[in-house]
Amino acid sequence: MSENLGNEELARLDKQFIWHPFTQMAGWLADEPLIIAAGEGSYLIDVKGRRYLDGVSSLWVNVFGHRRAEIDRAVTDQLSRIAHSTFLGLSNVPAIRLAKELVAVAPKGLDKVFYSDNGSTAVEVALKMAFQFWQQTGNIRKTRFISFANGYHGDTLGSVSVGGIDLFHKTYRPLLFNSIKVNSPYCYRCHLGKTYPACDMACLSEVEETMAKHQGEMAAIVIEPLIQGAAGMLTFPPGYTKKVRDLAAENGILFIADEVATGFGRTGAMFACDLEGIEPDLMAVAKGITGGYLPLAATLTTRKVFDAFCGEYREQKTFFHGHTYTANPLACAAALASLEIFRKENVIAGLGEKVAFLKNGLTCFRDLNHTGDIRQLGLMVGIELVADRKTREPYPIEAMTAVRVVKEARKNGLIIRPLGDVMVLMPPLSIGFKELGKLLDITYNAIRKVTET
Ligand code: PMP
Repeated sequence: MSENLGNEELARLDKQFIWHPFTQMAGWLADEPLIIAAGEGSYLIDVKGRRYLDGVSSLWVNVFGHRRAEIDRAVTDQLSRIAHSTFLGLSNVPAIRLAKELVAVAPKGLDKVFYSDNGSTAVEVALKMAFQFWQQTGNIRKTRFISFANGYHGDTLGSVSVGGIDLFHKTYRPLLFNSIKVNSPYCYRCHLGKTYPACDMACLSEVEETMAKHQGEMAAIVIEPLIQGAAGMLTFPPGYTKKVRDLAAENGILFIADEVATGFGRTGAMFACDLEGIEPDLMAVAKGITGGYLPLAATLTTRKVFDAFCGEYREQKTFFHGHTYTANPLACAAALASLEIFRKENVIAGLGEKVAFLKNGLTCFRDLNHTGDIRQLGLMVGIELVADRKTREPYPIEAMTAVRVVKEARKNGLIIRPLGDVMVLMPPLSIGFKELGKLLDITYNAIRKVTET
């Protein structure tokens, strides 16, 4: 039907009927919307036929490019069988096969897969499972959570309760449960005023002391392993996450790894946890699980957690949680095809070269006058723009610096989306070297144009 509508009509209808997420709609209504009609490999194509490099993998989800033949085929094949049947009281073929594959690639010890349909729900599930686990194992005082400043785990109220980004979360504070917040290592703006590595990760003592003090009432600690994505790609010092994991184990606190952003190759490993040999008690995945095709999420956990929910029907130990589209067969089929590409093409082993290329290409960004910090983990990049490099003073919010950089990049055929004044780059894993070069060039020139002229 959309083909019958002219582009101007589409734009008009968008403005008339749609409320976009994380978008100041007054600004949106004043602009011309970019309307995507198609995709091909690393490119998005708009209704006017213009091509744009997808520099943030369609918000961190796309893995092997758009219209990847094997995934397209898997979804259409599944469509010829069934699009959806309920997972409450029934099972389905691709969901069973996928659970086996997920367990095979997941960190050791994660043996059980609970499906949902987005990152926020995968985290909600982990929180509720952790809470209920202690209730059903005779530790009823263990009801609270430790989470991190600058953390982001989604937009539902449970996930927001363990979030730590004031801009997104503070409005809702009266609605939230009270989690204990500890500082996260934002080394560029260290809250202790120290410098890595001389600091010897002094920030860990706060985590250590908080755990020791509250262990009797703590159900779990929730963390984005190795890198806080939505806060602006804040990379942790090596070994930090592993130390937090070990402390959690020592204190009898469950460790929830939120791999929603980092999972499926983004960090250069299958999961960020793999980079430090971390075995979480619970792990939330979403985004890249389907190769970026369809909404699907999963919370993986251990046999030990699972067993605490098994019992006689009358004991009511059941996990009373489930979403209507849980384990949607089309999404599971896409995920299976995506995992198959990982395996067949030995994708993780091949990422090193791209990660190094990106790292190398980012070095010249240090010559720009307003790049304060450049952070990278695998194919996840954050370039923090500042008004003053010496003092690290941020730009005033009304300058809309990053937004202007995004607009400039768009004029030159690149889609990126900032976080505050951090320019985020997160290309699909399948991006070619030529396209990576283009991504770097356009971003560099856009930053220079906006901040230096
Ligand atoms: N956790 C992390 C670490 C995320 O980055 C995100 C989304 N950016 C979420 C959870 C929430 O995922 P969703 O938007 O699919 O609910």
